[in-house]
Amino acid sequence: MDQNLQKWFEIGLAFHGHRCPAMPLGLRCGLKAMEVLGVERSQDKELYVIAETGEGHAAGCFLDGIMVATGCTYGKSNVKKKYWNKMAFTLVDNSTDRAVRVSLKPGFFAKMLESPFVQKRKEGVPPQDVDPELLKPLLDNVLNLDLSQALDISEIFTYHWDKPKGCFDTVACAECGELVFENAARLKNGKPVCQGCFEK
Ligand SMILES: [Zn+2]
Ligand SMILES: [Zn+2]
Repeated sequence: MDQNLQKWFEIGLAFHGHRCPAMPLGLRCGLKAMEVLGVERSQDKELYVIAETGEGHAAGCFLDGIMVATGCTYGKSNVKKKYWNKMAFTLVDNSTDRAVRVSLKPGFFAKMLESPFVQKRKEGVPPQDVDPELLKPLLDNVLNLDLSQALDISEIFTYHWDKPKGCFDTVACAECGELVFENAARLKNGKPVCQGCFEK
């Protein structure tokens, strides 16, 4: 395993919270997509990820690996989930509007879902309680995988992301007194309120 991958794997584990095959797979896919576009990790919003994963399905941990590798994070709002429950994502380089879509080859992913790890998960075992001896070969496999056997990588195409403009000005909510950024303040009886108070 190269040092770069080793470094992100360790950061990924600390961030993600447990060992599983999908997070490191996301790491490797994120790094691969960056290599294809020839871009560095996103410090701010230089990159944008559109993930086709969703919620309530196996292997959603994939997206945490993609976020760690690319620096596209929920907090910076440069990652979007489409909730299509598919193992694919698009990485966009916002400085050039060049994008690439990476997806798992169906045969590869179907095989991954037959792994003893997924079997344990189906039986209701939390990921952190899966026997490390059972996990080790699966992790080694992902970390050393020949990606050409596992991924479909699109041609580079044009994609423009309309970056939302950052708001720096706040207003005090007329009901709870808390500060709300102006771009989300609502009007209630002619006074600015936060969304929480608006919905009360
Ligand atoms: Zn996981
Ligand atoms: Zn309020």
